[in-house]
Amino acid sequence: MEITLRLEIVTPDRLVLSEDVDYVGAPGINGEFGILPNHIPFLAALQIGPLHYNVGGQTRYVFISGGFAEVSENKVTILAEAAERAEDIDLDRARQAKERAEQRMSMEMDSVDYARARAALARSLHRLKLLDSE
Ligand code: ATP
Repeated sequence: MEITLRLEIVTPDRLVLSEDVDYVGAPGINGEFGILPNHIPFLAALQIGPLHYNVGGQTRYVFISGGFAEVSENKVTILAEAAERAEDIDLDRARQAKERAEQRMSMEMDSVDYARARAALARSLHRLKLLDSE
């Protein structure tokens, strides 16, 4: 029998995904890393970006807003503040979030939490990019 990985993606309010997969590629803070079955136990911090996984010869995408990945006994657990499967991303919402973030970043530095606006911009851009690559 072929060995698979159980991929679980969890946010504070829901279980986004729980599926047996063949491969997981995740956006680590030091670059993308890949997990195949029988991987050694592993813990990594994630950055905002796309996670992808392969199942039955197909690649699927999930947006991740940072968080942590834990690998243990053929199970990959992703804990993220927010995550959406590509098909659940709302295009208009992401466009509006991008516009808001860009406006804030063009304002006087004193009146804006720049790091917050930059993170919001990164989330919106990755959501839009993921929709484009679908
Ligand atoms: P917004 O300003 O539109 O809320 P955001 O980047 O600040 O965008 P997050 O804090 O990352 O939003 O997420 C808040 C909640 O809204 C999460 O549950 C996330 O999954 C959901 N969410 C945010 N943007 C989208 C989107 N474009 N499509 C689908 N769900 C989204």
